[in-house]
Formats: sequence, C-alpha cells, structure tokens
Amino acid sequence: MAGMTTAPTLPSTMRASVLTTVETIALEERPVPRPGPDEVLVRVGSVGVCGSDVHYYKHGRIGSFVVDSPLVLGHEAGGTIEAVGDRVDADRVGQRVALEPQLPCRRCRQCKTGHLNLCPHMEFFATPPIDGAFCDYVVLPADFAHPVPDSMSDAAVALCEPLSVGLWANQKGGTRAGSTVFVTGAGPIGVVSAMAARAMGATEIVVSDLVESRRQRVAELVGATAVDPREGFDAADLGADVFLECSGATPALRDGLRAVRPGGTAVLVGHGDDEVMLPVTDLQVREVTLTGIFRYVDTWPVAISLASTGRVDLDALVTATYGLDEVETALTSDEDPTSMKSVVVVGS
Ligand SMILES: [Zn+2]
Ligand SMILES: [Zn+2]
Repeated sequence: MAGMTTAPTLPSTMRASVLTTVETIALEERPVPRPGPDEVLVRVGSVGVCGSDVHYYKHGRIGSFVVDSPLVLGHEAGGTIEAVGDRVDADRVGQRVALEPQLPCRRCRQCKTGHLNLCPHMEFFATPPIDGAFCDYVVLPADFAHPVPDSMSDAAVALCEPLSVGLWANQKGGTRAGSTVFVTGAGPIGVVSAMAARAMGATEIVVSDLVESRRQRVAELVGATAVDPREGFDAADLGADVFLECSGATPALRDGLRAVRPGGTAVLVGHGDDEVMLPVTDLQVREVTLTGIFRYVDTWPVAISLASTGRVDLDALVTATYGLDEVETALTSDEDPTSMKSVVVVGS
C-alpha cells in the first residue's frame, strides 16, 4: 500500500462499539481507518471507562457537546502500532503505546504558547463528533502515541489518561515536596489525583468522601488520611497548600476553599454546577488562587515513568474488566459505589 508501512496482517474491517442513540450501544462492522502521513494506526489493547463515557451514554450530551450522530466512546486507551504514515519512522510498527486522545490544531495562539489543551479547534476522542477507542483500530498523530515499556500491563497503559488528569491538577495546584494536599471526592479522579500528589512529593494528603468503602480504598491505595466531611472534620484546620475539588459537589467545594492556607491554590477538577455562590471576600483577603483544569498538557511521559517504575500503581484501580461486546454493561457498572475503574479489553 502506497504511503504507509503496515504489519502484514492488517484486515479491512473491524469491530466498533457505537453509541447509536441514548442508552443504546451496537457492535458494528466498520472499515479500518488509514493513517495520514504523520499518523499511526494503533490496534487497541485496553480502554478505561470514564465518567464522561457514562454521561454521554445516559444523557447524550455533556454541556454544549451533543451526540447527534452515532459515536464510538472511550478515550483512555493503549495498544500496539500496526501501521504508520509515510512521514513516521517505519520501525515504530509493533511498538506498544499509550494514547494521548487529543488532537490540537498546533497553529493557533493557545497551541503556539503551550496551552494546547485550550485549543479552540481541539478534536478529542469520544467527544462529538470525534470517535473514540471502543473499537479494534484507531489512528492518531504519531507524537501522541507514547511508547511504553513491556513491564506495563495493557490496563495500566490505558489508565495513563486518568493519571494525566491527576498530574495536571497537581501541576496547576503547585504540588511539590512537602505539600499538604486536600482532595474532595474519592472516585477515580480523586484517587488518581491523590496518587499523583503522593508521587509529586506531597507528604500530607487528606481525602474526603461520603462513602465509607471509597474512604477505605483511598487510604489503602495512597496512604491518604480519609475523612467523612460530616463527622468532626473541620477543613479550616488543615492549612492545605493545594486543594483539588474532585467531587463536583458544591458543599465539598465550599468546604475545601476553607481548607486552603493563605496564599494556597484551589483547583476545580470535577464537574459540578455551572454557577455557585463563593466566599469571594475570604478568597480575596487570603490571596487564594482559584483555577480549574481542562484535560492536560504533555503529561504522558511523566505518567508512563511513574507507572512503569511503580511510583503509581494503576493496576490497583481496576475493579472489573469487560470484552468489546460488553461495553453497555461496562457503562452501567459504575453505579455500584464499590466499583472504581472498569476496563474494556479490546485486544491483546
Ligand atoms: Zn477520562
Ligand atoms: Zn490550536
């Protein structure tokens, strides 16, 4: 085939798990995509199930992103390069990679100044109308397919994506050696944020959650102090350098802002109400920085280093695995509070 180097066994069609309409998933046969000159074709290994996938499945939209035509979900993925475009090193065929699921334009002011996550022309996996990775093959830019060592499991490779969210949140918050970090919410993003905080040198990590089993798990996985916000915990005593709001709950946000020391930073990581009342005078006179995060910039090399050297145990997050024909079950399994991260095993 002209203009592309491929593994010998490349088929012409593949399986794709498609969200056809709200709460309906169909397994379809689709053509295998072809990589452009600077792209690679990846045979998908494992794909993590994210809260955003579940939201699209149940509601057909997230904010202004509306699913109005069939969409392949899944953006936490890894796999093996099976073909490369003609401007990509042919030796990469056969390489295992973690997928950074964003396609910035690379030309606008945000991209040029290093804020590619804020690119207004961004195309992002599993965000309408861009298809995701619950399928056998995907194409993406070669430099967004990050090589991983063989020591990492397929699940860990996929979960570099949520870890990237945790890393970027801590980077925005300024977490460093000796930091005290307060995390509200011990769901998957709260846990990876606490894990990232630990790996970046935070020495005191306090995580609040209403659910007992989640508190227990974050205490075990991260060695964090887990608190029930309803029981004898006064956030104002904490003096946190960094507060990461990962629950999306307004009371948690208000509580967490009180936990921040003067001059500290609060980062909105979870998705909550569009508008909330905030104690702005208190933030003002204590010079608390309030910011948010949207996806990430250049976090994969760090995520892969931390996961492959055992500083972060991504395999420990996995509570269930499913096949590509079980995506619908995987998308509904998160209703169980004991579930942390479901992974869809597409291939191996
Ligand atoms: Zn995700
Ligand atoms: Zn751009």
